[in-house]
Amino acid sequence: MELNGFDDRVALVTGGARGIGRTIAETLRDLGATVAVGDLQAPAIDGVLGVELDVTDEASVDAAVGRVEQELGSVAILVLNAGIFVIEPFEATTLASWQRSIDVNLTGAFLVARRCLPAMREAGYGRVVAIGSSAGKTGGAKSTAAYGASKAGVMTLAKAIASEYAATGVTSNALAPALIDTEMIAVMPDMRDRVPVGRLGTVHDVADTVAFLCSAHAGYITGEVVDVNGGFLID
Ligand code: NDP
Repeated sequence: MELNGFDDRVALVTGGARGIGRTIAETLRDLGATVAVGDLQAPAIDGVLGVELDVTDEASVDAAVGRVEQELGSVAILVLNAGIFVIEPFEATTLASWQRSIDVNLTGAFLVARRCLPAMREAGYGRVVAIGSSAGKTGGAKSTAAYGASKAGVMTLAKAIASEYAATGVTSNALAPALIDTEMIAVMPDMRDRVPVGRLGTVHDVADTVAFLCSAHAGYITGEVVDVNGGFLID
């Protein structure tokens, strides 16, 4: 099956300068979407519009999405990928540190989705995919309370959008990946031995799943959380 539903559609990927987000952007571009990527520093990716975006800052979100709309058109495919991962013992977690994880991983997704959804609703078509985490189901590896809580929140946000927009042609889903080989997990001990399929996940494992959910084939899938974890968490 060849994935379709991307031609003439504008996609925005947050936090896409590197890692999973970058590969999602390249995958959607290769499938024919017109792609923009927002990150703290405007990324330079072939054939992709790079915009400066701090997902925690409402004015920055408004300006970045406004620029995408002006240069490419209204966003039809939104991938809420920007995230930070902090390992910190619970009792050492300051309010500021807790707040930062919630701001980037959860409030950032809310701000970007709220800015983009009106155009999807008006167009009668949209795809939202939030990158959650298996840590949002389990609490994560030791000492990741803020991360786990923020990821639980963003996966629930994706479900809430799904039910509120179901009748408008907009689907909203989340992914719960684990142990994907990017810079983000370099701070953790090597856990590949604990992955039943015997390897870490690749950025393509995640990007291909996002692409399917963003395609025309996934119109009957909404409010779902898809595990991409090699069997690390089977629930
Ligand atoms: P990376 O750290 O490689 O990429 C995260 C990106 O988000 C970076 O480009 C970063 O920019 C950007 N970012 C951070 N803060 C902001 C902000 N305020 N506004 C805009 N962009 C921001 O991580 P991954 O690619 O591994 O992770 C991507 C997503 O997948 C994250 O949400 C992560 O939590 C999730 N995930 C990852 C897993 C893994 O095993 N790797 C497992 C489960 C979920 P900068 O470089 O400038 O900081």
